[in-house]
Amino acid sequence: MSDKVATCPEWVLCDTCRAIVYRKRWIRSKLVCPECGHHTMVDGETRLEQLADPGSLKHLDRPQRDSPDVLGFVDTMPYPRRLAEARAKTGLEGAVTSAQLCIEGSPAVVAVMDFRFLGGSLGVHAGSALIEAADAALERRLPLIVVTASGGARMQEGAIALMQMARTSAAWERLDSAGLLTISVVTDPTFGGVAASFATLSDVIVGEMGARLGFAGRRVIEQTIGKELPDDFQTVEFLLERGFVDMVLHRQSLRAELAKLLRAASPPDTSGEHAEVAAGAGDSVVRDSAQLPADQPWDQVRLSRDLTRPTMLDYVNLVFDDFRELSGDRVSGECPAMVTGLARLAGRRVVVIGQQKGHTLEELSKRNFGMAYPAGYRKAARVMRLAAKLSVPVVTLVDTPGAYPGEHAEEQGQAGAIAENLRLMMSLPVPIVTVVTGEGGSGGALGIAVANRVLIWQHATYSVISPEGCASILWKDSAQGPAAAAALGLSARELLRLGVVDGVLTEPDGGVGADPMLAAERLRSAITASLDDLGRLDADQLKGDRMRRFSAFGSFDTADMAGITSRWGVHDEMAG
Ligand SMILES: [Zn+2]
Repeated sequence: MSDKVATCPEWVLCDTCRAIVYRKRWIRSKLVCPECGHHTMVDGETRLEQLADPGSLKHLDRPQRDSPDVLGFVDTMPYPRRLAEARAKTGLEGAVTSAQLCIEGSPAVVAVMDFRFLGGSLGVHAGSALIEAADAALERRLPLIVVTASGGARMQEGAIALMQMARTSAAWERLDSAGLLTISVVTDPTFGGVAASFATLSDVIVGEMGARLGFAGRRVIEQTIGKELPDDFQTVEFLLERGFVDMVLHRQSLRAELAKLLRAASPPDTSGEHAEVAAGAGDSVVRDSAQLPADQPWDQVRLSRDLTRPTMLDYVNLVFDDFRELSGDRVSGECPAMVTGLARLAGRRVVVIGQQKGHTLEELSKRNFGMAYPAGYRKAARVMRLAAKLSVPVVTLVDTPGAYPGEHAEEQGQAGAIAENLRLMMSLPVPIVTVVTGEGGSGGALGIAVANRVLIWQHATYSVISPEGCASILWKDSAQGPAAAAALGLSARELLRLGVVDGVLTEPDGGVGADPMLAAERLRSAITASLDDLGRLDADQLKGDRMRRFSAFGSFDTADMAGITSRWGVHDEMAG
């Protein structure tokens, strides 16, 4: 807001589009310009009020450490005078204000940086305030939300300010070890030492629309590389596409979305909800292959690819509550074919991961036909680590023709990304349940399927290679897909016989696509029953169970081996 109209009681002038807005409307829209959507900077106190349920705000004690003038620093004025001026101008002690509050009933500790106080710079005082907020979260076992706005470390405190980056990172590490959720709300601008420490260390990074987040400033970069940067460079929208932030939100939806995250990560409620759902559990799961009708493998392949089958996100909507998608692998990109997020399932917390396809060509194309890039596998890994941190079970829904076989995918390390997941999933200290809902395509499927319990829909498939791929390698003729499908043992019935899956979910008449509601009900029952079952095991038992399950694929009895080798025929060719 411009200083000229700041004093005018009735009207506000937007700095960006120059619209003159009625002040009450401006405040109602949370200081976002209703004309152009520009998010005006919010001071710390206003931010806390915007986030808190009425009457829930309780400030934490102010930090015990003051800003030290360790260097006797003087620029155009001595540091102590600069501090005194900032205090007089803002009425604040320092750049960080913190409080405990509730958002839609969920409690959290919130620390807010105020850019008006010496550019929100990170010195001893701000560092102390952040650490004391983290300690309060630890002591009260609450999530920590930090709202960032800063130019970086405070120059006037020299290397001691630099050390606040490590000091705050240590506090975030303590929250990680304690299994407490951390959320950064990145507001404009967040740069330098704040961006390169706690702001980007949080479990979830929420960007406020249009905010900029970066290490070096635009001017420095442009001078260094000698060219102009794109307009959206370093905006959270730009970073979302590149896998560095989880979501970009309008200030108006911030509270609701934070509430969803807090609910999804808060300890399980004790309502009778999941007993009720588990009552009908397991009825539709077949555990003996002899009880399943014989099938035509090629028909199964076609059914598994049917575009009317519910997609991962259809199941997310029908089976889970409070789903909040998390984006980005924080390394190399955001993969639209792999969807991950926090959710609740019949009252319990879960992490959901799966490949998303689509019902139309447009949807399929947007999701890369469910073929994930390395960034997708890395995102899945990131969210699985979060599940481990929060002690939350992992549910994966597999539906992919395979990992994306593209040039960029290879350059980004597709094979290594999948391999890392196989090892990570083996060591995860929480229950993992996988359901193959459509196509279980090769390593691209297994990359999220090293689970304690692996289930499959009756008309889904799971295979070392697509039948067409197998046919073109072994028959030298991709038209021999049906023959390859029969030979590969990829149908649910065969997979159950081989022990690759633990159970087959029977589909409603006409298949899951004909009755998605009933399918969702069966899926929910089967997953909750498996989670109830696994809930009895501790972390070591869960890892041991997974280790035994997958190590067993090497010890077949003679009768099985005879059956398998005769069907395999040639087995020295490449597949994967
Ligand atoms: Zn405007």
